[in-house]
Amino acid sequence: MGTDRVWQPAQEIRGLCRENAPDVQLTETRTQTRAQSRTQSRNAPQGPSPFRVEAEALPSEKFSDPQLTAKGERRASVPLKTLETLWFNTGTLCNLACATCYIESSPTNDALIYIGAEDVSRFLDEAQNMGTREIGFTGGEPFMNPHFLAMLDDTLARGLEALVLSNAMKPMRRHEAALLELRERYGDRLTIRVSLDHHTQAGHEGERGPRSWEPGLAGLKWLSENGFSIAVAGRLLPGEGMGDAREGYARLFAAENIRVDAHDPMRLVLFPEMDETKDIAEITTDCWGILGKSPADIMCATSRMVVHRKGEPAPRVATCTLIPYDKGFDMGETLAEASSEVALNHPHCARFCVLGGASCSA
Ligand code: SF4
Ligand code: SF4
Repeated sequence: MGTDRVWQPAQEIRGLCRENAPDVQLTETRTQTRAQSRTQSRNAPQGPSPFRVEAEALPSEKFSDPQLTAKGERRASVPLKTLETLWFNTGTLCNLACATCYIESSPTNDALIYIGAEDVSRFLDEAQNMGTREIGFTGGEPFMNPHFLAMLDDTLARGLEALVLSNAMKPMRRHEAALLELRERYGDRLTIRVSLDHHTQAGHEGERGPRSWEPGLAGLKWLSENGFSIAVAGRLLPGEGMGDAREGYARLFAAENIRVDAHDPMRLVLFPEMDETKDIAEITTDCWGILGKSPADIMCATSRMVVHRKGEPAPRVATCTLIPYDKGFDMGETLAEASSEVALNHPHCARFCVLGGASCSA
């Protein structure tokens, strides 16, 4: 699911990018469209997100050239090392309309249509030939896709691991019997990662809307009580430290008897914030040395995402979970075509993947 962001912990992360320049007019239009979509959605949050990024607007000259930054320095890029994880976006429709959903999901947004089980199967064949071991599913809410259980079964029956990002609300709960059967057959090869945006109801509902806390928590408890392999995706409020957040989640999990170790970064993944309209430094080739990071640590070194955009005849491969719409981050029709290196030419590359709150100015 959208912030049901799709990273995993290489550094605390394992899961979105767009064409050429992020021009301000386009991002403003998107912001308006998202706001309109939200106001049309029942139970959508009415105010600004408590997790919003406070920064100046992104200057239009930034992220406009895949090779060079606005200052004329060489832009960093990431080669594909191995395709460890292949993500499928199951479709953008969602039962919620969260305030900062990076993929702009809502009950009405079908910009990414429901992907079909046969298309998934074809990509699974190709991924297995490339040595992929893990398949991720994100949305929207994956359990809203009518073909989702079939593709999940197909994945697990092949001996692959599956990671499903869900809000654990009604769309998932409708499939309890089928999920219990999958757990019986495949055990811990199926992991469901539930987005609980904050360890407080006010933080969570500020982002996800009223009446989203109890059902989400109940879904997480159901998974826990029934022995599923589970993880939780959370966020930090402005000024909240990582340690304080983990303590907060630990108290919640203990009080609710939820089997998640809040101090294990694989089980409680805390994500940095994203906002493509806000200013952020561009990543140059020198940043790797300054930050002590390697291109191999970045999500697009080991993963790709398959999306089926509305109006396109077939699914296509995007660089990552974070940039599904931008044609500049479309890699082709097959995984083989999608194996070339990725220029870090999007604000998400900088704010979310490389900097994650750090700075790379010398
Ligand atoms: S629950 Fe739905 S609207 Fe909220 S972040 Fe996830 S995909 Fe987006
Ligand atoms: S660096 Fe950019 S392209 Fe690579 S995973 Fe991150 S957002 Fe996606």
